[in-house]
Amino acid sequence: MRLGIHTKINEGFEKAVLRLVKLGCNACQIFSRSPRGGKARVLGEEEVRRFRELCGKHDINPVVVHIPYVLNLATSDPKMHEYAWAMVKEDMARADTLGASFLVLHMGSHRGEGTDKGLAQVAKALNSALEGYEGDTMLLLENTSGSGTEVGSTFEQLGQVLNELKIRRAGICFDTCHGFAAGYDLSEGEKVDATFNELDRIIGLSDLKLIHTNDSVFPLGSTKDRHADIGNGYIGERGFKAILNNPRLQGIPFILETPAEQDEDWERNLKTVRRLTGE
Ligand SMILES: [Zn+2]
Repeated sequence: MRLGIHTKINEGFEKAVLRLVKLGCNACQIFSRSPRGGKARVLGEEEVRRFRELCGKHDINPVVVHIPYVLNLATSDPKMHEYAWAMVKEDMARADTLGASFLVLHMGSHRGEGTDKGLAQVAKALNSALEGYEGDTMLLLENTSGSGTEVGSTFEQLGQVLNELKIRRAGICFDTCHGFAAGYDLSEGEKVDATFNELDRIIGLSDLKLIHTNDSVFPLGSTKDRHADIGNGYIGERGFKAILNNPRLQGIPFILETPAEQDEDWERNLKTVRRLTGE
């Protein structure tokens, strides 16, 4: 299986890759810039070359870039809208430079304009961002927990935006914590099957490219986005055993975004996943 973590790169790409190797990961997710936004540092040619070389050497694939949380693609405010799509455009280019297979983004919140308007704004922003894009990175829409006026918490909403994109090189990243918080039960085998059957019916499983593997601090349908250690939340070990071993999800990379202060936090969660999959 392809299994990785969201790793920091503030000590440089080289250290980040060596950490992944030490943890036994063969996939990873990074921010290509500060998650709090601001102007992005220019990526140096040499560090990019070295990063790509190390990922190749240690078989780290896919590399995933997560876009900063600050942008709101669902906004109707013209300035924020432009800021959001310009950042997607820039991060798609940065992700491509880094050799990343995917760029993951959250859609944002409609802030009172209504879900349909919010989704239309997301599609409009993404079509502006992707116009003329010729890189190899694929854009992935991540499901949200549906808190406040957030859009993108249901398969219908994700599918609606995918359908409105002018280029078809886009897919879905399913976050287990967000899905559970939005009301998709994942706590046992039958419920897991039902959730992915629904995803298949509404979007198509072939568009599911990545799974953010996180347990949930809060119960089903809470709409609260708080990640817990694998097996330590309301999805629980039974749920994750069913998700991780689900035959229909084989070949899809799993990326952990569990709470981590230090490497031993990653070690503990990776160990749980490996125990549940028998690897
Ligand atoms: Zn996530």
